[in-house]
Amino acid sequence: MTAKFWGVRGSIPSPGVTTTRYGGNTPCVSLHLPGEPILVFDAGTGIRDLGKALAASKEEIFIVLTHAHWDHIQGFPFFAPLYQPNREIAMFPTFFGATTVCGMCQRLKAAGDKTMVCPLLAQMDGIHFPVRSEHIQSRTRCITEEEMSYLHSRGLNISKIAANHPGGSFGYKVEADGKSFVYLTDNELEPPYQKTTDFDGFVKFCWQADVLIHDAQYLEQDMPLKHGWGHSLVTQACDLALKAEVKHLILYHHDPDRADYELDWIQEDARRKLGEQKPHVPCTVAFEGLSIAI
Ligand SMILES: [Zn+2]
Ligand SMILES: [Zn+2]
Repeated sequence: MTAKFWGVRGSIPSPGVTTTRYGGNTPCVSLHLPGEPILVFDAGTGIRDLGKALAASKEEIFIVLTHAHWDHIQGFPFFAPLYQPNREIAMFPTFFGATTVCGMCQRLKAAGDKTMVCPLLAQMDGIHFPVRSEHIQSRTRCITEEEMSYLHSRGLNISKIAANHPGGSFGYKVEADGKSFVYLTDNELEPPYQKTTDFDGFVKFCWQADVLIHDAQYLEQDMPLKHGWGHSLVTQACDLALKAEVKHLILYHHDPDRADYELDWIQEDARRKLGEQKPHVPCTVAFEGLSIAI
């Protein structure tokens, strides 16, 4: 498996002179497995560059969403493969109820069709984006029911876990050839509200993962103001990586106000603290363009 990072920033795109090295695009990570469809986790603004990279290929694309907050869907209308005739794109928004699906979804659902359009397409309504979803040339379909069974039937060993996040969010684990990859962003490990999953549940889910990508938006000095906003402290992500004995921790979903030099400092500090532990966990602060062979 190879994981590639196209957007690593949380909340809102943050271009500017202070974010040039780590990047200002919102979440998007692609996972490439030989002979399988390309898995794309989240469709933040980073997906635009991924689309350009995929435009010359023909592979089927699976877009797996953690949730539908803006920073996870806004890049989708700019994803070049959407406009390629006959390109196969399946979307897995996973949990959206009737209140968040668009009129087209509701009509299809009423007709008993399990293939529905989803919030990714619902934003392409002519009001929020000029191109309407019905003018997309690719063969897009949205799978919102029994999506895990569908992915399993396509040969992917994938599982999900409910995260602690206002409005809900999910994390995913993909296993292949004895290796495991976990994508767990927009997760507040120690929230003030009732937990959907407790710390031990995450330890179990991430147990000895080869790569854990985890939300690390905040520092102690951001608290108590941002406690309850749905994101974790860097130290909490490190704690999870240690307890779960993961083999490589990637800190992700950076605060839009975090400058490059601060992210350098965060990486140095996290590496120093993790280095004092046994077993030691390697740690990288995610940046756009990062590619990891798993
Ligand atoms: Zn987010
Ligand atoms: Zn969110």
